Amino acid sequence: MTGRPSPAGRLAAAAAVLAAALAATGLALRVPPPRPADAPAGEFSARRAEVRLAAMLAAAGGPHPVASAANRRVRDFLQGELAALGLAPEVREAFACGRYRFCAPVANLVARVPGRGPGRPVLLVAHYDSVPAGPGAADDGSGVAILLESARALLADPPARDVVLLLDDGEEVGLAGAEAFLGDRLAREPGAVVNVEARGTGGPSLLFETTGPTGFVAGRIGAAAPGLLASSLFSTFYGLLPNDTDLTALRALSVPGANLAFIGGACRYHTPLDDLSHLDAGSLQHQGESALRLVRSFAAADLGRVPPGEAVFFDVLGLALVRFSTAWARVLAFAAVAASLLACRRVLRGGAATVGGMAAGAAALPLAVAAAAGGGYLAARALGLSAVQRPWVAHPLPLEAAFLACGLAAAALPAAVLGGRARAAGLRAGVALGLGAAASALAAALPGGSYAPLAPAVLAPLAVAASTRPALARAADAAVALAAGLALLPAAWLMYPAMGHAAGPLAAAAVAVAALPLSPLLAELSARARIAAAAAPGLAAVALALAARGAEPADAGCPERVVVYFHQDVDAGRARILASPDLGRLPPAVRAAAAFSAGATVPFGWGGLRPAYEAPARALDLAGPELSVEELSAAGGRLRLRGRLASRRGAPSVQVAVPPGVAVESFSFDGTPVPRAEARTARWFGRWSVFRRLGAPEAGVEVEMVLRVDGPVSIEVADESPGLPPEGAAVAEARRGSAVTAQEGDVTLFTRTIALAPH
Ligand SMILES: [Zn+2]
Repeated sequence: MTGRPSPAGRLAAAAAVLAAALAATGLALRVPPPRPADAPAGEFSARRAEVRLAAMLAAAGGPHPVASAANRRVRDFLQGELAALGLAPEVREAFACGRYRFCAPVANLVARVPGRGPGRPVLLVAHYDSVPAGPGAADDGSGVAILLESARALLADPPARDVVLLLDDGEEVGLAGAEAFLGDRLAREPGAVVNVEARGTGGPSLLFETTGPTGFVAGRIGAAAPGLLASSLFSTFYGLLPNDTDLTALRALSVPGANLAFIGGACRYHTPLDDLSHLDAGSLQHQGESALRLVRSFAAADLGRVPPGEAVFFDVLGLALVRFSTAWARVLAFAAVAASLLACRRVLRGGAATVGGMAAGAAALPLAVAAAAGGGYLAARALGLSAVQRPWVAHPLPLEAAFLACGLAAAALPAAVLGGRARAAGLRAGVALGLGAAASALAAALPGGSYAPLAPAVLAPLAVAASTRPALARAADAAVALAAGLALLPAAWLMYPAMGHAAGPLAAAAVAVAALPLSPLLAELSARARIAAAAAPGLAAVALALAARGAEPADAGCPERVVVYFHQDVDAGRARILASPDLGRLPPAVRAAAAFSAGATVPFGWGGLRPAYEAPARALDLAGPELSVEELSAAGGRLRLRGRLASRRGAPSVQVAVPPGVAVESFSFDGTPVPRAEARTARWFGRWSVFRRLGAPEAGVEVEMVLRVDGPVSIEVADESPGLPPEGAAVAEARRGSAVTAQEGDVTLFTRTIALAPH
């Protein structure tokens, strides 16, 4: 070899490898076209499912939250559909409290599709309630339609064992229906569970969570493939996020389980735009056929004898599933490190690298990951948005491209700053050792994610050993980068849809690790060329982040969210209109609709995280919530209260809020104890203890509580009804065209403070 290699040739080769991996992994995440209504009877057809979904949404006539009249219409419709299929649906009514301490009467629907033989059935689950803000065509109307279409397909081509359909209620208020199901005698039967959800209106269906022995579950997923997008990394990552679906509650069944969801178009999640026109029929098809395949696969297994054992698994371009035990992950990671060390020794003996060069190379992986994470964080910060208020923007392309450019710049950075000392062979050795070490650490601590560094780490020693033959080594570098790309880039693609702009550090780091094995290609270039190779994507990242900052964060398809409340403080006789926007400021038309305050503040101590602007309003001539105390006593540092809580204006939801610092030992509605709050729920409510009863009868509900407190204490009671009085409705109307409501929707809220002073 004489002279320096051509920088253009090297960069073009590196870019081609990366582009191929990016394109292949990106294409694998495309949704299939919907199957037509005349598809074979045993198959899943999104067009058939859509017909049922449209009829269900028409029966609902809009949002259909738990304990509402629309919710009952949906239940009646679904009961009719199941009966029309020839099934015998049962309604299981219960009073249940979900995880957020919201309690409601729920009615779950169950129906059994007979299988060909005996054995424990498979439970297929979707929830039929929606949030109050939107019709829930995707969340979880799509899941309900998938259950109906799957039932039809399973009746046409029976599964090996029975499949029990569970259409549950009250998921959106903290999994109340799923919690109620746990107390049902049917809950003892299932040998496996498949849950179908949506956290958006489009995108591919992801098998993002598993329960039970992952070795067995991965085997069933492998048997159900191809087409399934599944990985133990998703499940590990999801486990670290504060999200819930019905499967969170159904984990208590202690059976193998799989959770499917699509997460594209998350802007529309829990808004009025989660409607049929925004639901991607391709997503419905992908999720429906994935669910049906999984159900058939679970039903074909002996669910009475599930072997233990944990596994690591990931799909390769949605075509095949690679799986191995976590024990093998540890062995392979250790072997990769050992093989890298042996290869390093060989290279040192051959004189192709020095110990100092390898030591410098060992800094490459941590440097690239740190630089990518930092860059991705700054790119996301450039938006000036808080991920809590608004995770997703209307035009994410510049932002996603900025994350990609950050990752590429970070991958080129080690060659720029260490390449002169490490040279290609030192860099290659350092990267191989770094990947092996990362795989070993993950195999021990978070095995589900270990395959990401492990896939390139097992090939990297071959590249190190080839260092004495540069042409071969370069080909091996490309192979290592391809393995890294296939393992890591699907996660990089999905990071933004999953988390919004807060995903910047993780997305950029995934790209950096995928591209880093190509860095030895840059190491032999001149210092100037190496710096340029890192600086060019770095500058592109800055330009893209600025472009992302300049783009409108919301538009008609990804609207701004402004939730409007009418609040009346009964004690003070004062009323106000509150408007809580997710972009930090009010749209001009909304601001002009009332005399809004200049700044936003958190309106209730227990109101959670969202600040609101407030405008004075005329108090309504209506009575609010009333707590008639029937028994109040204090003893031993405890205050015991029994009474009846009712809304004197007929609001369907009543609430008790106990201030921070007062421990609630027990609380019950109509004799049903409300479970303890989880730490994160307490955070949502500003550390107040909030107990809500939805669908309360006019006569009110019996409340019993024991507070750990020495002296007198003041609690707050509230009642809440959907919709707004005329003054508030005018503000909501002014929002039309520029913003939409979200989550719990626009509500009217009356509050009172009750001093509890026992004698
Ligand atoms: Zn849902």
